[in-house]
Amino acid sequence: MGKKIILTGDRPTGRLHIGHYVGSLRRRVELQNSGEYDEIYIMIADAQALTDNADNPEKVRQNIIEVALDYLSAGLDPGKCHLFIQSQVSELTELTFFYNNLVTVQRLQRNPTVKQEIKMRGFSESDDGSDNKAGTPVGFFCYPISQAADITAFKATTVPVGEDQAPMIEQTREIVHKFNTTYGEALVMPDILLPDNAACLRLPGTDGKAKMSKSLGNCIYLSDPAEVVWEKVRGMFTDPGHLQVSDPGKVEGNPVFTYLDAFCKPEHFEKFGECFVGKKVSFEFHSLDEVKAQYRAGGLGDMMVKKFLYEVLNDTLAPIRERRHALEQDIPYVYEVLRKGTEAAQAKAAETLAGVKRAMRINYFDPGVLDELIREQQEKYNNQ
Ligand code: ATP
Ligand code: MG
Repeated sequence: MGKKIILTGDRPTGRLHIGHYVGSLRRRVELQNSGEYDEIYIMIADAQALTDNADNPEKVRQNIIEVALDYLSAGLDPGKCHLFIQSQVSELTELTFFYNNLVTVQRLQRNPTVKQEIKMRGFSESDDGSDNKAGTPVGFFCYPISQAADITAFKATTVPVGEDQAPMIEQTREIVHKFNTTYGEALVMPDILLPDNAACLRLPGTDGKAKMSKSLGNCIYLSDPAEVVWEKVRGMFTDPGHLQVSDPGKVEGNPVFTYLDAFCKPEHFEKFGECFVGKKVSFEFHSLDEVKAQYRAGGLGDMMVKKFLYEVLNDTLAPIRERRHALEQDIPYVYEVLRKGTEAAQAKAAETLAGVKRAMRINYFDPGVLDELIREQQEKYNNQ
C-alpha cells in the first residue's frame, strides 16, 4: 500500500468563513486527528490568489497571516500537518510549466467552475485593451493546471474540498493519466473527498445566493465577534413567502435551515431549548426534523429559528474565536509554523519534480545521466 497523503488549501483573499469550515476545514481537522494519514499538506495559495489580484499583492500578503490564524484556531496542528505558502515552493511553477503542454485551451474553456468564476469576476470577452473591458488573465484561466501541480507535487491521494472544486480534481486526474501514459508512472492519482453532508457541499451566502464567497460579501467569518454573528444571522435571507408567523414556511432553499443542517447537533436542543420559549407560543423540539415540520406547518417565527441558529453557530465559533485571540498575541509563532511547513513542503515538491524530470528524460545533468548522454551522442558522431 502506498502512503495516504492529503493536500488542500485556500486562497489568501480574505479571512476564512463558515463555508470554508464546513466545506473543507472541519474535515481536515478530523482527518488530521484520525491518525490515518501519513502526510498532510495545507497550502495558503497566494500565487493562485494573485491570478486575479495581480494589481493588489498587498491584499494577498496581508491575508496570509489571517488564513494561518484561522487554520490554527480551527484546530489544524502543526505537529501533524505542514502549513505552507505556495509561492515559496518554486517547484510548483516548474511542474505547472510542463503540465501546460498536456492540456488544451478548449479543455480549459469547458471547465464549469472557471467559466462561472470568469463571469462572477466580470472579465470581458471582448478585451479591447482599455481598462474597463479587461479580459481574463492567462494565469487565472490556467489556474486548474497550477492546481494539478499543487496536488501532484505532494503525491496527494486525497483532496478534501467543497463541490466547486470537483472540476479541478477531474482536470488533475486527466493530467496525471496523460503524464503517466506519456512519460511513465511518476504521478499519483488523487481522489476528491467531498463533505458527506449535502448542506456542506456548497454553503449558501447569508443573502441566499448559491455560494458563500469572499468575493460576494455574503459571509459569516470564523473570526467574527459574537455580536457580528448575531447581526448577520438576524439579517439573513429566509423564505420570502413566510410573512406572518402563522404562514407555512419553506425549508428548502432557506439558508437558515441549510446552516442548521450543516452545524446543528442533537445536544443543541437541550442546550439551547430556551430559544423556542416565547411570550405567546413555546415549543419543545428534540430534533431538527421537528423544527422543520413546525416551520412548514406554520406558527414558528423566523426570529426564534434565527436565535437558535445563532446559538448553534456560536457553539462552534466561540472556541475558535478564543484560540484566535490567544494566537494573535504570538505572531512570531505563526510565521515560524509557516516557515517550517514551507521548508518541508519544498523538500517534498523537489523530490517529485526530480521524478517528473527523470520520467520526461530532461534530467540531463543528474549523476550518471550525463555520462550516458555523452556516450550516446559521441557514438552517434563516431559512426557517421
Ligand atoms: P474566492 O472568492 O477568493 O475564490 P472562496 O470563498 O471561493 O474565495 P477559496 O479559497 O476559493 O474560497 O476556497 C477554499 C476552499 O473552501 C475550497 O475547498 C472550496 O471548495 C471551499 N469553499 C469555499 N466556499 C465554500 C462554500 N460556500 N461552501 C463549501 N465549501 C466552500
Ligand atoms: Mg474560490
